[in-house]
Amino acid sequence: MSEAFDLIVLGAGSAGIAMAIRAASHGARVCVVEAGPLGGTCVNVGCVPKKAMWLAAELAEAQALARLLGFDSAPGRLDWPAFIARRSAYIANIHAGYRARFEQLGITLVQGHGRFRAARRIGVGTRTLEARHVLIATGAHSRRMAIPGGDLGIDSDGFFDLRACPRRVAIVGAGYIAVELGGVLRALGAEVSLFARSDRVLRYFDHELGAALTRAMVDRGIQVACSRLPVRAQRTADGYALHFQDGSCTGGFDELIWAIGRDPNVQDLGLDVAGVALDAQGFVAIDDWQDTDVAGVHAAGDVTDRLPLTPVAIAASRRLADRLFGGQAEARLDYANIPSVVFSHPPVGAVGLTEEAARAAHGEVVRVYRARFRPMLTALAGHDERTFMKLVCVGAEERVVGIHLMGIGADEILQGFAVAVKMGARKADLDATVAIHPTSAEELVLMR
Ligand code: NDP
Repeated sequence: MSEAFDLIVLGAGSAGIAMAIRAASHGARVCVVEAGPLGGTCVNVGCVPKKAMWLAAELAEAQALARLLGFDSAPGRLDWPAFIARRSAYIANIHAGYRARFEQLGITLVQGHGRFRAARRIGVGTRTLEARHVLIATGAHSRRMAIPGGDLGIDSDGFFDLRACPRRVAIVGAGYIAVELGGVLRALGAEVSLFARSDRVLRYFDHELGAALTRAMVDRGIQVACSRLPVRAQRTADGYALHFQDGSCTGGFDELIWAIGRDPNVQDLGLDVAGVALDAQGFVAIDDWQDTDVAGVHAAGDVTDRLPLTPVAIAASRRLADRLFGGQAEARLDYANIPSVVFSHPPVGAVGLTEEAARAAHGEVVRVYRARFRPMLTALAGHDERTFMKLVCVGAEERVVGIHLMGIGADEILQGFAVAVKMGARKADLDATVAIHPTSAEELVLMR
């Protein structure tokens, strides 16, 4: 006999949990199917433990600065096991919070692997679940290179299993994960070599941001090797070695981390049985309403080709729940002007169009404003690192269509300015805002 619900959610990550809670709040009978821990990538092997490590790395950098500024304490080494115990306790609290919320809202949690038996019928072991709506929210996993030795080393999941700081680390990739892990490991004492296949890190961010971060990473002692495409990885007596397309080889690494993007979790879900189509890149194909082409079957989060960011998954899922169960027929996520932060050292943040994209879309009417300055804390310590800020404006009214930041505090500064961009702020609106002094953020309202 099958069990009947209004909604079955496959996957209890950011998208799945947000959808389940919002739908249940609207009165829907909800079942969540998940084989792993609650919270998915973000809570268990993504944003949350990464931010914990980043905060520890920030403290390590702050100790070195404090020493330069006259404090008499030498920077200490992080006790990894003790810190990871704290990180795990923090995550355990989040798990407990989800369980309590599920209980409060009467959400049924089925722990196991769910597979479509028909369009809106899911099998989990011997159980059969049926619902008017199914959300596919199974997330994604790290990609590996199909080269000899591509299965050696670890990915970001393996990074979170580390119990001590490696001595010499090779990181392949130059996107979010590569620069974040590279920055953390360097600040915590590792020698880090990062191998990018293109000419800079964060290639799909504004070109000046990628270049500025590359400089900042090199200044911190990270070896950033550009235009290096691995063709073979090897484990030798001396550690891991990487061979590159240009014939060069570098070795002696005691850890090797692959950070070359992520692929959607679409295997073994019975999507073909349900008739759910994938797009050309293998993601679950959806329209602007998070609907697949099978009635009653929807998808959100990293299993789709939309921006793979936790807040995007949450926002898209909540609006879908509002539409399906909350009587809000027009609810859907507007994917324009989504801000994001890379927790590099220093952090990078961006919202809206890069200069390149703005020029491609608007031609000559693009005007760019820039600020480069030494933030007070590091300037006091005698460092030369510059914070970089850039506004991209369009048209005679100079509407701000892009903001790009790199520097201390960029992670916290961006959110408020993203509201301004979303509201259609003009450069004149920023100029009309009185500065808060002395801060880094004030430079955004003082650009000429
Ligand atoms: P990204 O897409 O950010 O970066 C992938 C990197 O791998 C790029 O530098 C890319 O190079 C490189 N690459 C891809 N294929 C190869 C290859 N065959 N050989 C060598 N290099 C290769 O992926 P990540 O895995 O870093 O992160 C996945 C997503 O997760 C991110 O896009 C982001 O949306 C999300 N995320 C968000 C975070 C946040 O919000 N702070 C933190 C971590 C992840 P190239 O530049 O040349 O294309």
